[in-house]
Amino acid sequence: MKKKIQTYLWLAFYFLMVFLPLLLLMILPKPEGREFLREVSVALGFLAMALLGLQTIPTSRLKFFTKAFPMDTLYTFHHGLSIFTFLIALVHPILLFINNPETLRLLNLFTAPWRARAAVLSIVAMIILIVTSVWREVLKIKYDVWRWIHDGLSFLAIGLALYHMFKVNHYMSLTYQRVIWMILAGIWVLIILYIRVIRPIIMINKPYKVVELKEERGQSWSLYLEPDGHAGIDFEAGQFAWITNESPFIFRENPFSFSNSAESEGKVIGFTIKELGDFTKTVKNFKPGDTVYVDGPYGTFSMDDHRCKDMVFIAGGIGSAPVMSMLRTLADRASKQQLTFFYGNPTWDSVIYREELEELEKKLNLNLVHVLEKPPEDWEGESGFITADILLRHLPEGYKESTFFMCGPLPMITAVEGALKKMDMPPTHVFSEEYEMA
Ligand SMILES: Cc1cc2nc3c(=O)[nH]c(=O)nc-3n(C[C@H](O)[C@H](O)[C@H](O)COP(=O)(O)OP(=O)(O)OC[C@H]3O[C@@H](n4cnc5c(N)ncnc54)[C@H](O)[C@@H]3O)c2cc1C
Repeated sequence: MKKKIQTYLWLAFYFLMVFLPLLLLMILPKPEGREFLREVSVALGFLAMALLGLQTIPTSRLKFFTKAFPMDTLYTFHHGLSIFTFLIALVHPILLFINNPETLRLLNLFTAPWRARAAVLSIVAMIILIVTSVWREVLKIKYDVWRWIHDGLSFLAIGLALYHMFKVNHYMSLTYQRVIWMILAGIWVLIILYIRVIRPIIMINKPYKVVELKEERGQSWSLYLEPDGHAGIDFEAGQFAWITNESPFIFRENPFSFSNSAESEGKVIGFTIKELGDFTKTVKNFKPGDTVYVDGPYGTFSMDDHRCKDMVFIAGGIGSAPVMSMLRTLADRASKQQLTFFYGNPTWDSVIYREELEELEKKLNLNLVHVLEKPPEDWEGESGFITADILLRHLPEGYKESTFFMCGPLPMITAVEGALKKMDMPPTHVFSEEYEMA
C-alpha cells in the first residue's frame, strides 16, 4: 500500500513538473494573447520543453524513483515519452507555419535569426537521437558509443531549445516566467550533476575487491566481491546492480543481477555473468584483489517486495541468476514454501548451476523442471521452449495463488507472458525482469 501511494505521489509530482509552467502561465498575468493557432503552438512548445528536461528523471536511477517503479518500466516510459516529446516539439513549428506560412523562411539556417536556428538544430538533434536509439542494433552502433551519442545529443537538444525559448522571449518577458524556467532548468542540471559527478564520487569512495571468480557452465563466470573499507550494501534477492572495473566517471557500467544469497555473510555480493560482448568477455580476466565499483541495489523484481505464498520461477539461460539468488536465500532461511522452477536452456551441458540446483532440490521444497531446446538422445524431460502445456503439466494445484517470477531475454518473457495469459494467471501475481533495457 505504502509503495502504491509512493508511486502515485511520484506520478503526481512528475506531471506537476510538466504542466506547472503552462498552468501558471494561464493563471498569472501574461502578455496579450495572439492568434489561436499560434497560442496552441506556443503551449505545445512549453510542454515539449518541460518533458524534454524531465526525460533525465526516469533513467537517472534516483533511488526514490527506482523503489517506486520497476527499472524496465522506467526505461519503457522513457522510450515512449521521448517519441511523444519529439512529436509535440515537431507540431509546435508546424502550427506556426500553418498559422502564418511566411514563418517558413525561419527554416533557412543561413538567413534565420539565431533563436530559429537553435530551434531547428534542436529538432535535428532529437531526430538523430531517436534514429540512433531505436535502430542502434540495425545501425551496428556499439552500446558505449551510443551512450555518448545519446547523452551528447540530449544536452544539445535541451540547451538549444532553452536558448530558443529565452530568446523568443514572448511569454518569458515577465520575471516570474523567467524564474519558473530557471528553477526547472536548475532541477534538470542538479539531476545531471548527481548522475555525472556525485554518484561516481560515491562509487569511488565505496570500492569492492574481487574475492573469487568461478567458472560456471554456459560460458558464464560467477564473480564474488567484498566491500573494501566500507560497510557494503543490503540487497534483496532478485535485485541487480551496475558494475564496472573502470573509473565510474567513464560511464561504462553494465547491469547484473545479484546471484548469491541476500543472507550471505560479510556483505559479499555475487554476480553470474555470461560472456556475450565487450565487457562480459573480460570478466574471466578479473583477479582476486582487483577493484570493482558497484552502483546498486536496484529493481523491484524481489520476493521480499511482494507477498508470496508459494513461488514459481521461470528463467531462460543466464536469466537464472536472480532466481538462484532467491533460491539460495530461501535455503538460508530454511523456507518450507512450495517452489517450482522452469529452467529453459539450449543444451544439458549449458545449464548454469546444474549441480547446485540438484543440491537445492534436497534442501528446499523445490520441483525443478528442465526444458531443453536441443536435448540429448536419452532425454526424458521436457524439450523445446517453455509453453503453457509444459507449465500446466508441472504446476501444483492452486497455482493461481502462487507468485510467478520470470527472467530472461525479451522474446522468452513475451512468449511466457502469452502462455500465462492463456492460463488466466492474474497479472498481479506475475513479475518479470527483462535483460534488455536500453
Ligand atoms: C536488469 C538487468 C539484469 C541483468 N543481469 C544479468 C546477469 O545477472 N548476468 C548476465 O550475464 N547478464 C545480465 N544482464 C545482461 C547484461 O547487462 C548484458 O549482457 C551486458 O551488459 C552486455 O554487455 P557487453 O559489453 O558484454 O556486451 P555488448 O556487446 O557491448 O552489448 C550487448 C548488448 O547488451 C546490452 N548492454 C550492453 N551494455 C549495457 C548496459 N550498460 N546497460 C544495459 N544493457 C547493456 C545492449 O543491448 C547491447 O546491445 C542483465 C541486464 C539487465 C537489464
